[in-house]
Amino acid sequence: MSAVCAPRTRRLLRLVAPRLTAAMLRNYSLDVSAAPLLRTQGYVDGRWVSAASVFPVLDPATGQEIARVSDCGPAEAKQAVDAAYKAFESWKRSTAKERSVLLRKWFDLMTLHKEDLAKLITFECGKPMKESLGEITYSASFLEWFSEEARRVYGDIVPSPVRDRKIFLLKQPVGVASIITPWNFPSAMITRKVGAALAAGCTVVVKPAEDTPLSALALAELAEQAGIPAGVFNVVPCSREKTPAVGQVLCTDPLVGKISFTGSTATGKVLLKMAADTVKKVSMELGGHAPFIVFDSADVDRAVAGAMASKFRNSGQTCVCSNRFLVQSGIYERFVDKLGQAMDAELRLGHGSDPQTTQGPLINSRAADKVLQQVSDAVSRGATVLRGGKRLHGSFVEPTLLVDVSTDMLCTREETFGPLVPVIRFETEQEALAVANSANVGLAGYFFSQDVSQIWRVAEDLEVGMVGVNEGIVSSAEAPFGGVKESGLGREGSKYGIDEYLEVKYMCLGNLNP
Ligand code: NAP
Repeated sequence: MSAVCAPRTRRLLRLVAPRLTAAMLRNYSLDVSAAPLLRTQGYVDGRWVSAASVFPVLDPATGQEIARVSDCGPAEAKQAVDAAYKAFESWKRSTAKERSVLLRKWFDLMTLHKEDLAKLITFECGKPMKESLGEITYSASFLEWFSEEARRVYGDIVPSPVRDRKIFLLKQPVGVASIITPWNFPSAMITRKVGAALAAGCTVVVKPAEDTPLSALALAELAEQAGIPAGVFNVVPCSREKTPAVGQVLCTDPLVGKISFTGSTATGKVLLKMAADTVKKVSMELGGHAPFIVFDSADVDRAVAGAMASKFRNSGQTCVCSNRFLVQSGIYERFVDKLGQAMDAELRLGHGSDPQTTQGPLINSRAADKVLQQVSDAVSRGATVLRGGKRLHGSFVEPTLLVDVSTDMLCTREETFGPLVPVIRFETEQEALAVANSANVGLAGYFFSQDVSQIWRVAEDLEVGMVGVNEGIVSSAEAPFGGVKESGLGREGSKYGIDEYLEVKYMCLGNLNP
């Protein structure tokens, strides 16, 4: 199965952001006195705890240190697990209404402090402020949603096949949940799990990513203000050096009943192996490689708008970002021209604090290296760069548009996690589906078509957990989030998300003398 490449007609390189210098970024620094939710210690059993050492948190746009955070190790992780286990005894006995009220208070506090929370995201993760505010709204929505779902965890009464027996199904919380999260949504990836866990009656220990511990610690501050009891929500920030040892505790301690992880497929497999020894319940939200298919019948302007939204959010660093663009030959030229124009008109690189910025830096220089490696591999195999293609200051990478792309190139075989649009030309629906489904992961997929029969066929046949039809952004608290194949196990958000933290206990009441 090979995609047909377009002739190499376009040689013009246009720069989306011709200049971006250190001097342009120098004016931006986090004013600590104006960051009321900045916390730098771990949060265990309702107390702020220091570790023996600290690690720096850097602004990815400038490389400047913005904070030094306690570098928790296995000892602090164990204390947190023990505290969560102790707190579980009383938290599981609280009523659903009591848990609901506390989650709602936490949501209200997040909403009240959304500017302060968003600023922390922008400085530790690099997102433009508008996107950081969007993440806080999204993040808080999981606390709101699960404050409501907490009160709708119903068991079942099942008709019994035996006259003198009754069958009851009880739903009970799993226990202590270890929550391990990535840097790209430093707030929402926590609440999407913790909202469900706490609603179900579980207690949690959160290990945030090394790059972005500040959002997690700010959530702990607000949890405390909301009145979440000590030990129910714990945070153990740590450096990448300490992560394997902390991960070992969180994934193997017998007191932990559940692991919920969001991150790369490679790390997910490591954690699954650790979880196997004590047979823990697991949820895995792993990597994606989303196809974005534009069929000849598509509304080209909608398709371009969808591509811009799904590709360039967080500078291409989301697990549901479109990663492979498959465009049918009849609409190919128009789509590519209009997408290039939209990139020129809409994308502006800079510090996330600058209101004009739409594209922040990548999280670190390794991430920038990966994008550049994919670009040079593609060019060496015959791709043409229509926009961008270069590294700017630090870890900033130009939004890049590649055509004449084929399926043997690295960029179509692995997740990019950066602002790269590789466009493959195709002729038939079967050909597009075969390319789309050739990946070993299947998180999100998108396609644009006005043909109702085709919409139904392709939506059913795409091997993904989430499909956007004529839509480039699909996430919401109400809808289930998760993937198939090596994109993971389980679903988050929606009415299904809480099931990940519940066990079903079958109770048989017998000898009833009917
Ligand atoms: P990552 O390297 O897998 O890291 C994710 C988290 O796992 C971080 O907190 C990391 O800590 C931790 N970790 C790494 N090794 C560990 C170990 N041995 N034990 C315990 N924890 C360990 O992923 P990333 O690069 O930060 O995030 C990007 C990936 O996440 C992409 O593949 C993306 O598609 C995926 N993602 C998926 C979803 C989804 O919902 N499916 C959502 C967002 C992102 P350190 O930071 O200290 O390394």
